[in-house]
Amino acid sequence: MELSGDSIVIHDKSFRPMISQAEIAAAVERVARRINEDYSDVKQPPLVMGVLNGSFIFMADLVRQLEMRCELIFVKMSSYSGLSTTGTVRTMIGLDQDITGRDVIVVEDIVDTGVSIAHVMNMLRGMGAGSVRVCTLFFKPESYRADEHIDYKAMEIGSEFIVGYGLDYDGLGRELGGIYVVEE
Ligand code: 5GP
Ligand code: MG
Repeated sequence: MELSGDSIVIHDKSFRPMISQAEIAAAVERVARRINEDYSDVKQPPLVMGVLNGSFIFMADLVRQLEMRCELIFVKMSSYSGLSTTGTVRTMIGLDQDITGRDVIVVEDIVDTGVSIAHVMNMLRGMGAGSVRVCTLFFKPESYRADEHIDYKAMEIGSEFIVGYGLDYDGLGRELGGIYVVEE
């Protein structure tokens, strides 16, 4: 979909507008509604775990639409540098509590190949989580090659590289309100 607005330059690449703030807001509302239905009668507040850095804006918008009490934490686990995945998955920093039996909802910016999220899910299960579900803002079905089921996908996109709404290109672009896609 083409949106009005100018292309922008970040580092050595040019990006054009792809998804507006209003479309993102609508998608966040839809996915929050599904989570509200699924977690309406859990006994213990779910642990909503944002994966930094990319998820911080999505997390902030998502949790304010949740109707159940929940515990919010952020972890850091980056495997990406530049335009393509490096394949190296680092360890998780910031989860220092006992999650035995807890219902965990992992909040991601993008699930691309799925390597990162599969690793996170396995770690959480290994730590004794009662249930592990994933809520991702973007899902790239053409790139996905993990076996994990992703319960909540706010939006599906092609395999092109995007920035904005928390997502960066080598450190820049996170502050953009909408989503921009790289121009080849
Ligand atoms: P995966 O392990 O699923 O291949 O990679 C997931 C991570 O790669 C995401 O959490 C995100 O940080 C990064 N990533 C994947 N695609 C994009 C993209 O189009 N733009 C940006 N900025 N990051 C991406
Ligand atoms: Mg990420």
